[in-house]
Amino acid sequence: MKIVLASGNKGKIAEFKKLMPHDEVIAFKDLIGDFEVEEDKDTFQGNAVKKAEEIYAKIADENILVISDDSGITVPAINNEPGIYSARYAGENASDKENNTKLISKLEEKGLEKTAAYYTACIAIVYKNETYTVHGWMHGDVISKEMGDGGFGYDPMFIPKDFDKTLGELPHEVKKEISHRSKALKLAKKVLEVIL
Ligand code: IMP
Repeated sequence: MKIVLASGNKGKIAEFKKLMPHDEVIAFKDLIGDFEVEEDKDTFQGNAVKKAEEIYAKIADENILVISDDSGITVPAINNEPGIYSARYAGENASDKENNTKLISKLEEKGLEKTAAYYTACIAIVYKNETYTVHGWMHGDVISKEMGDGGFGYDPMFIPKDFDKTLGELPHEVKKEISHRSKALKLAKKVLEVIL
């Protein structure tokens, strides 16, 4: 069956293709071209659902299945920042480096060298006019400096629970086992088993 991803991110497309090796997985742009969905909801779930539902409505073929995801990191000690603003913490189109620098300065303002944090991933699936969502989380600490250059985004600042190194320093296999996105993908696979 044809599965449409509400993302243009090559890394995400590759992850979803691995999840559904027997299906035709395509990026929404290949079907409907440029189409902007404003991420203006106040939760990861709200934004993931909005992306999937708007793209599903635009495609207007109820036999197509649309999948979207939204993710980010939340730091309770600084008013739950950056949360849903993770990708654009230091401004629209900010680089990972700029976002990390902003997070470091926010932690320094509060005199925090290390504090609890967690990643969230929400995946939304729309099929036959019905919407399903699943979440995955990864808990740990953020530190006020970058260590290592593995992973992406906030990974060089994040030490997962039960580890003593950041995701920038740990091998990729570790993150694959424990990440918010891996957990959400495993649950999404269960949803697909039930609804398809
Ligand atoms: P999205 O592509 O709109 O879901 O934005 C996700 C943003 O959250 C990314 O740009 C990163 O800043 C952050 N993020 C989400 N997951 C991860 C992760 O696994 N490692 C590091 N940063 C992440």
